[in-house]
Amino acid sequence: MTVGQVLVINSGSSSIKYQVVDPVSGEAVLAGAVERIGETGGPAPDHRAGMREILAEAADALRDVGVVGHRVVHGGELFHRPTVVTDDVVAGIERLAPLAPLHNPANVIGIDAARALLPDAVHVAVFDTAFFHDLPDVARTYALDAKVAAAHGIRRYGFHGTSHQYVSGLVAGLLDRRAAELNQIVLHLGNGASMSAIRGGKPVDTSMGFTPLEGLVMGTRPGDLDPGIVPYLLRAGMSADRVDMLLNRQSGLMGLSGVNDFRELHRLVESGHPAADLAYRVYLHRLRHYLGGYLVELGRVDAITFTAGVGENDARVRADAVHDLDRFGIRLDDARNAAKARGPRLISAPDSPTAVLVVPTNEELAIARQAVETAANPQPPE
Ligand code: AMP
Repeated sequence: MTVGQVLVINSGSSSIKYQVVDPVSGEAVLAGAVERIGETGGPAPDHRAGMREILAEAADALRDVGVVGHRVVHGGELFHRPTVVTDDVVAGIERLAPLAPLHNPANVIGIDAARALLPDAVHVAVFDTAFFHDLPDVARTYALDAKVAAAHGIRRYGFHGTSHQYVSGLVAGLLDRRAAELNQIVLHLGNGASMSAIRGGKPVDTSMGFTPLEGLVMGTRPGDLDPGIVPYLLRAGMSADRVDMLLNRQSGLMGLSGVNDFRELHRLVESGHPAADLAYRVYLHRLRHYLGGYLVELGRVDAITFTAGVGENDARVRADAVHDLDRFGIRLDDARNAAKARGPRLISAPDSPTAVLVVPTNEELAIARQAVETAANPQPPE
C-alpha cells in the first residue's frame, strides 16, 4: 500500500499551525501557520477562513493527502488512543472543554473547519493525554476527597504524551535494546516542561497533572505550588481568571526574572543579574527533585533523555541537571554534551551505567504516523 502525505493540524485559540508530512521518510514537505486569527489586521476573521488560507497555500502538497491528523490537548477519561473523528468524537472533545478551556474549543473549531473543507479525507484526533491514560493508580490519584475527585474528573492526566511516547520509542533503537526491557526517564524541556518515568514502554509517572501547570518550573508557569496559595489569592480579591493568567503566563522563569527564554536567561545570569540567577537555580532545584523521585521509583534507570527546545539545545541545563550523580550511575561526557549537533545522540560517558541522550522530538511526525495507522485500522471509541 502506498501511504500518502498527511496534513497535521495544531489549532490554538488564535492560530492554526500545520505541516504536510511524509510519514515514511519523516520529512516535512511543507510547514506554516496562520496566526492572529480574529484579530483586527489579522489574516483571517475566523478558523474556517484560516483553514481556507492553509488549503490555498498548501494546495499542491495537499493533492496527495488522504489523512489529516489533529492534535487535541485533552482526551480526558474518554479517549486513550488516536481516534477517527466522527460527530460523536467531536461532541466528546467538546464535552471535555471545561478540563482544557483554552485548548479543546480551539481544537474543535479547527477540526470542524478541516472536515468541512477536506470532506473526503480521514480525520484522526491524536490526544496529548492519551499516552498517560493508564498511569498506575498511585501516580494517577490525588489525595483529595475521593467523591469530589470522581464528581469532577480530577486525576493526573499528564500532557506532552505524544512527545514522551515518540522520544522513548526511539531510545530503544538508539541503544539497540528492546523497549520492553528499558527503564527510562524523559525530560521534555521546552517553554512548557514535563518529565516522565517509563518502565518497559509504559509510563509509570509524569510531572504534569490535572492541567499542564503541575510539576517542573516552566517558561511562564510555576509548576508545583502549595495549593493553599490559590484560595488565599482568591480571598485577597483576585478573580479566578486573574489567577489563571498569573499561573499560565506570568510565573515560572518569566515571573522570577522577566524572561522565559533560556538564551536570555543565561545572558542575564552572566551579567550578574540576581533575579535571573535565582530563577535558574529554582528551575534546576525542582528538576533535580523530580529526577531523584523518578530514580527511586524506577530503581534502575537505563536511559535519561533530554528533548524539546531547552533539552535539545541547552548543554548547560543538561550538565547541571545531572551534575554530580556519579554515585547513581549517571556520568556525562562533557565534550559530547557540549558538541554542537542536531540529531539523536548519546552524551554520557562510555562507562556510565545509565545512558544519557539527546533525542529531538517531532510531534508532527508522531501525529502523522499515528493518524495513518489509525486510519488504516480504525478502532471504535470506547
Ligand atoms: P519549545 O517549547 O520546545 O519550542 O522550546 C522553546 C524554548 O526552548 C525557548 O523558550 C528557549 O528557552 C529554549 N531554546 C530554544 N533554542 C535554544 C537554544 N539554542 N539554547 C537554549 N535554549 C533554547
